[in-house]
Amino acid sequence: MHPFTYVKATSAAEAVRAITAAGSGARFLAGGTTLYDLMKLNVETPSVVVDINSLAELSNFDTSGSEELIFGALCRMSDVAADARLMRDYPALSESLLAAASQQLRNMASLGGNLLQRTRCAYFRGGEPFACNKRKPGSGCSAREGINRGHALLGASEDCMAVYPGDWATALAVFDAMVDVLGPKGQRTIPLQQLHREPGAAANIETNLDYNELILRIRAPVTPLGRASTYFKIRDRESFAFALASAAVALQMDGDIVRDVRIAIGGVATRPWRARGAEQALLGRPLTERTARASGDAALQGAPATVDNRFRIELCARTVAETLMIAKRRALAR
Ligand SMILES: Cc1cc2nc3c(=O)[nH]c(=O)nc-3n(C[C@H](O)[C@H](O)[C@H](O)COP(=O)(O)OP(=O)(O)OC[C@H]3O[C@@H](n4cnc5c(N)ncnc54)[C@H](O)[C@@H]3O)c2cc1C
Repeated sequence: MHPFTYVKATSAAEAVRAITAAGSGARFLAGGTTLYDLMKLNVETPSVVVDINSLAELSNFDTSGSEELIFGALCRMSDVAADARLMRDYPALSESLLAAASQQLRNMASLGGNLLQRTRCAYFRGGEPFACNKRKPGSGCSAREGINRGHALLGASEDCMAVYPGDWATALAVFDAMVDVLGPKGQRTIPLQQLHREPGAAANIETNLDYNELILRIRAPVTPLGRASTYFKIRDRESFAFALASAAVALQMDGDIVRDVRIAIGGVATRPWRARGAEQALLGRPLTERTARASGDAALQGAPATVDNRFRIELCARTVAETLMIAKRRALAR
């Protein structure tokens, strides 16, 4: 057990002040389902933990606005997943939360913490003696020559091929969500698609957030595409498992023709991945089993694979195709 100091913040400003004073070895604590997990594995060893759970200002969400959906960073996954308006008008968002973890975890886990969850790569979580540039910069990547069946097809580098595992961020990617953060210099907004970084040569730097920036809320513009949206996740077992491949789709049709479509894929990339090539492949065309599959192929086009993870190129292409057909049924039913 590594000793650490526990600080309970009572406002967002106080939380930012406390973590800034503590330095880059400190961490915010929300539900703790990632942070405590990694502390028990000795992968995270914070000197100070700043508990943000008392920040009422971060704990509400509003899906009734005419311009945007607003989700406080401390909202619990289960509360948001069960929101009737979200289930009706933005099913992809609700489904992505429900497809994650277990009911007990969703009751505890926050939306902000969910965005910042860390990879499930066994070499990252396993600690010594495994090499991991993310955990220990410069040590290498055991996954490269190791068991990499679940590792990234997209966005990987020589230094790191760990997958970004979250479901919610993948669904948010199709809705052009934005993330409001508070730091010592004030508030700023980061497009969700720019929150996470590809590993490149600095696998330990996973986001474009500073250690002392607090996620306040996530916002997504209101769009008619939400109604015919869906999140579909393929995993090794039916529930309580991370994605081998997943897709989020939001769709608008004119008869049989795709008027607008947004596609993101999960479980296969080092960050939440908007599949713009797959969208282009469909725009203005009829949506059929064949064109849906071509769109799935476009999502993975040129993805370099290893012997172990190659099967997930086909799996993900099929997942995209299936997700599109589910969204089409929803679009036609409205
Ligand atoms: C067994 C298990 C299975 C899981 N399965 C899935 C799954 O299938 N799909 C899926 O998507 N997720 C899954 N998860 C991940 C889970 O959803 C996340 O652990 C959870 O959402 C993290 O939220 P939290 O509030 O507990 O975060 P915490 O653990 O409290 O924090 C996580 C990280 O975010 C930082 N942080 C938290 N809140 C803020 C904030 N407001 N601003 C800045 N930094 C912040 C913390 O400092 C920490 O680094 C699983 C987790 C477990 C343990």
